[in-house]
Amino acid sequence: MSENKDQKFVYDFTEGNRDLKDLLGGKGANLAEMTNLGLPVPPGFTITTEACKVYLESGTAPAELRDEVSAHLAALEAKMGKKLGQSDDPLLVSVRSGAKFSMPGMMDTVLNIGLSDESVTGLAAQSGDERFAWDSYRRLIQMFGKTVLGVEGELFEDALDEAKAAKKVTVDTDLDAADLKKLVKHFKKIVAKDAGREFPQDAREQMDLAVEAVFNSWNTDRAKLYRRQERIPSDLGTAVNICSMVFGNLGPDSGTGVAFTRDPASGHAGVYGDYLQNAQGEDVVAGIRNTVPLADLEAIDKASYDQLIEIMTTLETHYKDLCDIEFTIERGQLWMLQTRVGKRTAGAAFRIATQLVDQGLISEAEALQRVTGHQLAQLMFPRFDGEAKSTLLGRGIAASPGAAVGKAVFDSYTAVKWSRSGEKVILIRRETNPDDLDGMIASEGILTSRGGKTSHAAVVARGMGKTCVCGAEELDVDTKRRRMTVGETVIEEGDVVSIDGSTGKVYLGEVPVVPSPVVEYFEGRMHAGADDADELVAAVHRIMAYADRVRRLRVRANADNAEDALRARRFGAQGIGLCRTEHMFLGERREMVERLILADTDGEREEALSALLPLQKKDFVELFEAMDGLPVTVRLLDPPLHEFLPDITELSVRVALAESRKDANENDLRLLQAVHKLHEQNPMLGLRGVRLGLVIPGLFKMQVRAIAEAAAERKNAKGDPRAEIMVPLVGTVQELEIVREEADAVIAEVEAATGTSLKLTIGTMIELPRAALTAGQIAEAAQFFSFGTNDLTQTVWGFSRDDVEASFFTAYLEKGIFGVSPFETIDRDGVGSLVRSAVQAGRATRPDLKLGVCGEHGGDPESVHFFHEVGLDYVSCSPFRIPVARLEAGRAAAEAKGSDSR
Ligand code: ADP
Ligand code: MG
Ligand code: MG
Repeated sequence: MSENKDQKFVYDFTEGNRDLKDLLGGKGANLAEMTNLGLPVPPGFTITTEACKVYLESGTAPAELRDEVSAHLAALEAKMGKKLGQSDDPLLVSVRSGAKFSMPGMMDTVLNIGLSDESVTGLAAQSGDERFAWDSYRRLIQMFGKTVLGVEGELFEDALDEAKAAKKVTVDTDLDAADLKKLVKHFKKIVAKDAGREFPQDAREQMDLAVEAVFNSWNTDRAKLYRRQERIPSDLGTAVNICSMVFGNLGPDSGTGVAFTRDPASGHAGVYGDYLQNAQGEDVVAGIRNTVPLADLEAIDKASYDQLIEIMTTLETHYKDLCDIEFTIERGQLWMLQTRVGKRTAGAAFRIATQLVDQGLISEAEALQRVTGHQLAQLMFPRFDGEAKSTLLGRGIAASPGAAVGKAVFDSYTAVKWSRSGEKVILIRRETNPDDLDGMIASEGILTSRGGKTSHAAVVARGMGKTCVCGAEELDVDTKRRRMTVGETVIEEGDVVSIDGSTGKVYLGEVPVVPSPVVEYFEGRMHAGADDADELVAAVHRIMAYADRVRRLRVRANADNAEDALRARRFGAQGIGLCRTEHMFLGERREMVERLILADTDGEREEALSALLPLQKKDFVELFEAMDGLPVTVRLLDPPLHEFLPDITELSVRVALAESRKDANENDLRLLQAVHKLHEQNPMLGLRGVRLGLVIPGLFKMQVRAIAEAAAERKNAKGDPRAEIMVPLVGTVQELEIVREEADAVIAEVEAATGTSLKLTIGTMIELPRAALTAGQIAEAAQFFSFGTNDLTQTVWGFSRDDVEASFFTAYLEKGIFGVSPFETIDRDGVGSLVRSAVQAGRATRPDLKLGVCGEHGGDPESVHFFHEVGLDYVSCSPFRIPVARLEAGRAAAEAKGSDSR
């Protein structure tokens, strides 16, 4: 890369623009953009990510860099009329990291570069403010010491605290010049001792070392881990911004602040932000002193305030989005230090997108890119009533959303015991491990005091769809004494707590839960146009309409009964992509299944099956009625039969006890034999799916007959049933052919008997690698494919979800082997590539092959984009995720269109 002789490694702020994020990083590109918009940005220049890459690859900065930096520095000095570190009037600069993607808290910035024992007195004289000069110097030594020389930050903080304590004051602004002078001395000693070298007095050396430190910060362990998890490529490197200093710590007519161009919570236009007088840089976020609301700036400095408001309007119109801003006021002069498109809450994302459409700033297609399915999902969880009085106990990481209330329990055993007796419980642990699994299942929610988003608790809870707050460090959890302490408050086992997995907040007592207005809207209980509909619902309604207009993928539901089917319809489902039939063999019908399994003769078997037939037919009639006019894919029985038999241990005990009493029950004995016979080491890979249909005579035939008769009944009642029969776990076309022949015969019989033409289609799931690999052959016998990506993920990776999520996924996520669980988001490279090739092979055999997916991935935002790309006809997911799938299908289509038209 360094062969390119014309390559420039340094860009003045006047030379860049916002499209150069690859080269200049996000911060640098936006500083350049603001400079070119004529906004007051302190002059400076950016060292490119290319220079960083050379440094990281070769261990030294490119040879040309030093001269280029010198030239740009000279130009900067000329512009500012003073030299870097000049002893009587020093130019000071900040050295700021800034990669293409923001990596919050990963890399550092050093302010006030250029101060030394000599120039600090020059700065004091020039500014007429001795205190300011020494305050700036102590900040430099502190930041430089920590970031560049690797000194333990606490050493400085402790020294600062000591100085305040000695003077009996609490805030740093109460320290005067003399105190700060002493502190600088102390800080320099700390550096010399801890870093083994003196704090450098040469300004250029300070700058060069700081630049190198920023380069190196790209490869700290925490930065590497962060990138692996966020899937940010590790070879991008960071840019470095050298920016002339402006000072917010020059007294009460100076200050520093952050602002948003509109309310990041509601999207409303207005004045949002915080301001801190007489402060520098990070004092605002660090919470050292109390900030004032930005609106108060109007009274403090009207001219700067008015100018800031005007600039915010300029930025919003220019970026066509909410921007966040860092600014500083130096003695009444406003300076812009940073801007970027700002983060926002889920609700605000929807409102802002529609507000910007109304302002004519963006198109409907662009509006779709401003919201995400994750945000919509967040808006659909029930939430705690914001109005209700509640006592906040603490706050942790929002690991798995939802609002959960229950009695505190501190071990899994109690969680299970209490929940069996009908109590709602919250499992509280320091951290969880695989032994806690039962307790987690039994709980409403999980709360831990340690661990992050990839901790065991977080991963497993997300997998289960359970509310979880983890890493709430203020909570002192004492599992031995079954209690937790937060400050003065002690929560004993049995006390009620409430946890909010969307915000990470933990409350004492029961906080009332209210349904989400967005769900009320999807349920049809609230109308977007009604007077009482809030802005959020109106915005969601509009965005959903945009998505439905452009999307190509249809969205179906995984629903097993009429009730779920009706909800799915209300949520916008265009059919059922997966109706599991296992529930049709449970409850009172279990006995008939037992008889079926124990049958010795064809007669007994048929008797058991014909007892099941009318019951199943009734279920199907209800379902087809609920989904009248829409396709319903019914999957024939999939799970291993032993799941319908009594538990092996329980039954063994019962039989043993009976034998010891000498009154063994004949039926129990036979049942036990059957249970033993059907017991499998690895049921996931055993006798299930189509294999069951092929070895249990009459089973699939009975199911097909129930479907066909139900469809005929609906037809005769002038309904429009559209059943599709789906065969699970097919690995080879022969399996499907045999089932299909039988099914066709049954359907023909029913058609003849009822005088109807049913037009039932027969297809298969593609959920085994072999099925995907031979999809071209299988398509000869299948009218449709439905990718079962849950099982396909398990079989492609060779692991079972229940086992691995609890045992080693945490380690894999922490090591960055997965960015996200392959059960949450489809593994594009592995599982995805099988899906892609099976689509092609299937369509090559049968061009009108209908293609869908019915794994839970069908409702996952990322995965929906993948299914759009590979050309499926529909995705199918649980009813609750349908709106998310509709939105993401729309976004995928709009994105594809947008990229050709722009
Ligand atoms: P981060 O990415 O962590 O926000 P920044 O590089 O933006 O780091 O800088 C940290 C703080 O220092 C910010 O508050 C920023 O506004 C302030 N700052 C950076 N450069 C200057 C400067 N040249 N003059 C005054 N303040 C600055
Ligand atoms: Mg910043
Ligand atoms: Mg399956």
